[in-house]
Parts: sequence; C-alpha cells; structure tokens
Amino acid sequence: MPVAGWEDHALGALREAGFRGGMARRRVVALLAHQDCALTALEIDRRLAAVGRASVYRALEQLEELGLVQRVELAGEAAGYERLEPGGEHHHHLVCGRCGKVIPFADPELERAIGSISTGADFDVSAHEVVLRGTCSTCGRGAQRKAA
Ligand SMILES: [Zn+2]
Ligand SMILES: [Zn+2]
Repeated sequence: MPVAGWEDHALGALREAGFRGGMARRRVVALLAHQDCALTALEIDRRLAAVGRASVYRALEQLEELGLVQRVELAGEAAGYERLEPGGEHHHHLVCGRCGKVIPFADPELERAIGSISTGADFDVSAHEVVLRGTCSTCGRGAQRKAA
C-alpha cells in the first residue's frame, strides 16, 4: 500500500483547495495514512488527544468532501473513515455482528464481477461498497461452547 503516497497526495489536495496550515487536519491525515483500515471519529479523537473533537470532525468532513477519505458504515451507530487511494486501490469489510470486529479483505474476482455487472447493465458504476456481516471466529467459538 503506497502509504507515503497518499499522505503527500492528501496534503497537496488540501493546499490546492485553499486549506492552509491546520494542525488538526495534518494530524488526521498522518494518522489515517498509517492505518490498514477504517477508524471511527471517536477512535481518531482518542488517538489525537490534543487536537479536540470539533477539529477532528471538521477535518474529517473536509477530507471527505475533497474525496480524500471515505466514510464506511460498519458497526451500526458509528461510521468509520479510511483513506481513498488516488489510484483506486481499495478493500472491503467483514463485520462481526457480535463484537463489532472489522476485517478488511480485497478480492480481484469480486472487482471483476462488479466490472462485468456494470458493463452488462450498461451503467457507469462510480463507486461501490461491500460489507459482509456475520460472526467472527472468536465469537463463533464462544457460541459453540455454550451450545455444547
Ligand atoms: Zn477498511
Ligand atoms: Zn471493490
């Protein structure tokens, strides 16, 4: 994953859009640049303790508007935020309904299938999200033990 690439790309896009300085924005960008998957606004706020919640939310909104991060609806009430790679590389999510664990996955077959659906329906698909919901192995094992 081109981590440093996204960080430079994001800071450049912010400058171009007229956002100057902005310690909160820089710190949110630096944090998201090094994540493998989505973080909720609350988690971001917790990790950037000195920034302040309002600044974190504002920074996330601006990054989303500029198409630098995407909001993913994962575990119900709290949305997650993760970076949008300029080259379109991305992954999808498995979400455990019991513990809320989120497991990222990437699948070229799935991407090809979505491409051929787009072609077949003569529809220009500009974005897609795939969330598979269920039970992770840890929670599944707990349930089996209880049943036995
Ligand atoms: Zn993710
Ligand atoms: Zn995809």
